[in-house]
Amino acid sequence: MSRTLIESFRAQFPAISPDHIYLDSAATALKPKAMIEATLNFYQGTGNIHRSQYSQALQLTNQYEHARSLAANFIHAAESHSIIWTKGATEAVNLIASSYLEHKLTVDDEIIVSESEHHANLIPWIMLAKKKQAKIIPLPLNNSLVPDLNILPSLISNKTKLIAITQMSNVTGAVTDIHLASSIAHSHNCAIAVDGSQGIVHHGFDVSHTEVDFYFFSAHKLYGPTGVGVLYIHPDRIDEMYPWQGGGKMLSHAKMDDFIAEDAPYCFEAGTPNTAGIIGFGATLNWLKDWPLDILERHASDLAQCADDRLSQLVGYKKISVDNSSILTFIIKGIHSNDLAILLSEQNIAVRSGLHCAHPLNKVLGINGSIRASFAPFNTLDETYRFCGAVEKAVSMLA
Ligand code: PMP
Repeated sequence: MSRTLIESFRAQFPAISPDHIYLDSAATALKPKAMIEATLNFYQGTGNIHRSQYSQALQLTNQYEHARSLAANFIHAAESHSIIWTKGATEAVNLIASSYLEHKLTVDDEIIVSESEHHANLIPWIMLAKKKQAKIIPLPLNNSLVPDLNILPSLISNKTKLIAITQMSNVTGAVTDIHLASSIAHSHNCAIAVDGSQGIVHHGFDVSHTEVDFYFFSAHKLYGPTGVGVLYIHPDRIDEMYPWQGGGKMLSHAKMDDFIAEDAPYCFEAGTPNTAGIIGFGATLNWLKDWPLDILERHASDLAQCADDRLSQLVGYKKISVDNSSILTFIIKGIHSNDLAILLSEQNIAVRSGLHCAHPLNKVLGINGSIRASFAPFNTLDETYRFCGAVEKAVSMLA
């Protein structure tokens, strides 16, 4: 791995400081200068998009729509109008539930949800199932902690209306073969909604190669701002969907007792959007083009491997995450993950602890929380050694 590549990537992030080690990129990534500058520029100018005729507003509208094209290109979507801006992955799932599935779902219908899901790709389905007296069918994991696609066909029936599945678990780092999952779903005439929140960062996604009905992620995990999400909708599904929120700019005509909805994507984007965030995310996507993402990813997973090699010497250490992942999730028997995280914080190290918004997955794994150190390409070997030393120190204090 070229040191200069890592050093120049690292130099992009003003939040990095020598006294603090950031190992929480799976929760939210640090922000590059390119994004920060674009957001600042927006606020130094400002204007409202899609509404006004003055030049500043028109220019911002162009930037906003250009960001949509960049998001489409990033996942190889042919049409930028297949991209809906949301405020995050969570809102994207709620949108799919309300706009697509609610009117299709009837009593006793089924939604298959993998046991690996973050609550964002579980709770909206439970809420909808309760409302419509439908059922959630859990898709168990196989021995490699991946949703078991061998048994998926046996769970699908003519009542199955949608399969909700993650591309990559935020707890274990396990990666699902979405190509296979979607071909199983489609051979049974079933829609598939894929949570790309972690997968997009580490593996990318190509909707021109793998046909999915819905693919979504939050910008903030991909070096973008908070409050921005990308929802890709397959063009064949758009006509089966209804607007879910009403308000300005989602319609072409309104009178006192009715309205005509705009075409997608605008009918799903009621109200003034997070313009600063979306333009900032456009700058992130533009900036990302300059970096060899697969090489950088390998560096991050090498660091996680290196930390695992050393920490595995600790008594009671058990790795929860899968091999070859930049996410290192572990427990130390007899020590609560939150206690360990507090002692790491006192040594200026940021990790995530607890249940990681995935209560059912913790139950399947037979654990009650864990530490997740998520490595990013800007992390260094020196930081990795310091992190390991800090864990050893914390464990010696708590044991
Ligand atoms: N899915 C996964 C796999 C995640 O890791 C997260 C964030 N932890 C989400 C969904 C939800 O993202 P957000 O809170 O940004 O909507």
